[in-house]
Amino acid sequence: MAKKIVAGNWKMNKNLQEGIELAKGLNEALAADKPNCGVVICTPFIHLAKVSEIINHDVIGLGAENCADKASGAYTGEVSAEMVKSTGAEYVILGHSERREYYNETPEILKEKVELALANGLKIIFCIGESLEQRKANEQNAVVKAELEGSVFHLSAEQFKNIVIAYEPIWAIGTGMTATADQAEEIHAYIRSIIAEKYGQAVADETSILYGGSCKASNAPELFAKPDIDGGLIGGASLKVADFKGIIDAWK
Ligand code: PEP
Repeated sequence: MAKKIVAGNWKMNKNLQEGIELAKGLNEALAADKPNCGVVICTPFIHLAKVSEIINHDVIGLGAENCADKASGAYTGEVSAEMVKSTGAEYVILGHSERREYYNETPEILKEKVELALANGLKIIFCIGESLEQRKANEQNAVVKAELEGSVFHLSAEQFKNIVIAYEPIWAIGTGMTATADQAEEIHAYIRSIIAEKYGQAVADETSILYGGSCKASNAPELFAKPDIDGGLIGGASLKVADFKGIIDAWK
C-alpha cells in the first residue's frame, strides 16, 4: 500500500516571520490532533533552516520547492540539493509546471536535478500534468508518460522508491477548477499502470501518487476516496493552518 501524504507547496508566499508563524501553527495543530497520513510542507529556501528547528519531524516532513541542476560552484543565486539537505529538509519538489513554464526547465534539466536530489538523500515530489489544450486533445496520458520517461524512468527500482508522483493538471492549478474525482482517478490509475510496466506491480503499489490542483477541504474527501489517489499536493490551501488541516483531516 502506498503511503498517504498531504504536502503543502507554499510557492513564493510568506516572509520569514509569517512562514515561522504558519509552521508553528501547523506543528501545534498536529501535536494536538495527530494526522492519519504523512504531512509535508515545502517552503521557500529561506524558511527551511528555521522551520526545520520548529517542526516535529516525526509528524511533519520538510521540503524545498526546487534545487539546482549543478552540484556546487560558480552558479550565483542557485541552491544545491546538498544545501537543501543540510537544513534538515527531507523532500524537494521537482518538475512543477510553474518551473517548467516560467523557468524553462526541460526534461533534461529535471533529470539532472533528480540525480542530484537522490544523491543527497532527498525524496522527490515529482510533478507531472497536462495543459488545457492537451486535455482537450485527449493527450493527457501521452503527456504524463513522456514527462516520466524524460526525467525519472531511467532510475533503478531502488532509486524510484524515493519518488512521490504529483499529478497536477495545469488547468486546475490555482484556478479553482478541480479535476473531478473520476477524471483524476482515471489518470492516476494510468500512471500507476505505467509505473507497473516499468518497475513491476509491487513498486507501483508502493508509489504515492498525489493529486494537485485547487484541492481543498471540501473536495479532498471525494478525491482521496479513490483507490489510486494517495493524497494531495496543495498550493493555495496550504497557506492557512485551518485550510491545510481540513485537507489533512480528509484521511480521518
Ligand atoms: C500547486 O501549484 O502545486 C497547486 C496544487 O496549487 P493550488 O492548490 O493552489 O491549485
